Amino acid sequence: LRKTSVQDLLRSTDLDREVLVRGWVRTRRGNKYVQFIALNDGSTIHNIQVVADAEKFPEENLKGVTTGSCLAVRGKLVASQGKGQAVEIQATEIEVLGTADPEEYPLQKKATSLEYLREIAHLRPRTNTFGAVLRIRHAMAFAIHQYFNDHGYFYVHTPIITGSDAEGAGQMFRVTTLPEQNPPLDDAGQVDYKQDFFGKPTNLTVSGQLEGELAALALGKIYTFGPTFRAENSNTARHLAEFWMIEPEVAFNDLEDNMDLAEDFLRSLVRYALTHCPDDLQFLNDQYDKELLNRLKFVVDNEFQRLTYTEAVEILKSAKQKFEFPVDWGTDLQSEHERYLVEKHFKKPVILTNYPKEIKAFYMKLDEDGRTVRAMDVLFPGIGEIIGGSQREEDLTKLLTRMQEMHVPEEDLWWYLDTRRYGTAPHAGFGLGFERLILFVTGMANIRDVIPFPRFPKSAEF
Ligand code: ATP
Ligand code: MG
Ligand code: MG
Ligand code: MG
Repeated sequence: LRKTSVQDLLRSTDLDREVLVRGWVRTRRGNKYVQFIALNDGSTIHNIQVVADAEKFPEENLKGVTTGSCLAVRGKLVASQGKGQAVEIQATEIEVLGTADPEEYPLQKKATSLEYLREIAHLRPRTNTFGAVLRIRHAMAFAIHQYFNDHGYFYVHTPIITGSDAEGAGQMFRVTTLPEQNPPLDDAGQVDYKQDFFGKPTNLTVSGQLEGELAALALGKIYTFGPTFRAENSNTARHLAEFWMIEPEVAFNDLEDNMDLAEDFLRSLVRYALTHCPDDLQFLNDQYDKELLNRLKFVVDNEFQRLTYTEAVEILKSAKQKFEFPVDWGTDLQSEHERYLVEKHFKKPVILTNYPKEIKAFYMKLDEDGRTVRAMDVLFPGIGEIIGGSQREEDLTKLLTRMQEMHVPEEDLWWYLDTRRYGTAPHAGFGLGFERLILFVTGMANIRDVIPFPRFPKSAEF
């Protein structure tokens, strides 16, 4: 008997044949003549209905068939008489592979809140919601690689453990092999990292960008797609301690090209989700957010609004809405400001550019006025910042001045500076937070609900 997924069976037009399907029981209902078992194997949001006649399956043989138990069912795939499904399985053999005691099983049919599911995160992939989220997550990861591959980019794996802390001040997870108790000390009485594994302090990467730039200034068009780590204690619905970032970096691109890429990339990904994940999106739309599908289609069909930081500050200053943090030229925008621009003012995604140099990183290219840099943040409804990027400073002298201004030690980045010393070239890139993309595409409200395993403060059971 060929092994088939529920997805394959539900699409099948080849009826009245013997099939074998395995999966987990979502619900069981019925009467004394017949039992209906809704079986899900994770391949799709939909369940297949297994029909068990009481004559063949007396109640005592179905004892283990309860919500959450795992079954192997053999039977005949037939057209369904009932509403809601085209086909069903007329069971001939039901084997319980794993029981789930109804007294104990934490995922009973009663509505389970997302907060509750966060506490039993090891079981939540078995819910419809997390099944949908995880399948969409997979589809988006695949679409990202496909997009770059189709457009001639090379996938570069940047280091996870790194000695570069360019941007991570205060947000880094340190990595060390020195003993916690009585670590070796140097002459000055400080921990002697020369005796550490790499001979210097190291940490988990907060971004692959600087290393990505090295590769872009050799291969032309590259992207990274890997885990990044930030020990941010902020308990927001948008921040995780471990998240994935997609970072394209392109030689000879300027800020304009960078915006074009970001916009085309995001719209392609959303379009991919709409064509490849219609059932999961429909489920999330119906279950959580009736505007989800409209919002996704809107992004695909409409260009983003582009304006400068300075123009945005003017809009925010004259806005009727009272903000918790007042806006003034030179201050970083808060999520409330970003969301006002996107959700209230323009009612579409926004790309903000040319931020004051003081609030952006040292590597961004200085504008002619000497006050702003060629930065861009892409802001999305319900999210705020989804992408941060810039054209990079390719001029060695200007870069060194910026590093001094921002107190970035030159000796730590000698390797980075070499790219400007030898054959420097204009280039630009950005970072897209993968989970923020998934938040947008799934319409979920909290970033903690779009990751397979919890990674936020006080949450690492596994
Ligand atoms: P924010 O202002 O939201 O804190 P950021 O400006 O610190 O973000 P960047 O350093 O620009 O973030 O990183 C690039 C992208 O990575 C962001 O646009 C966002 O999509 C994502 N990102 C940043 N920090 C986190 C985090 N802690 N958890 C999840 N995604 C994040
Ligand atoms: Mg941040
Ligand atoms: Mg930011
Ligand atoms: Mg940013």
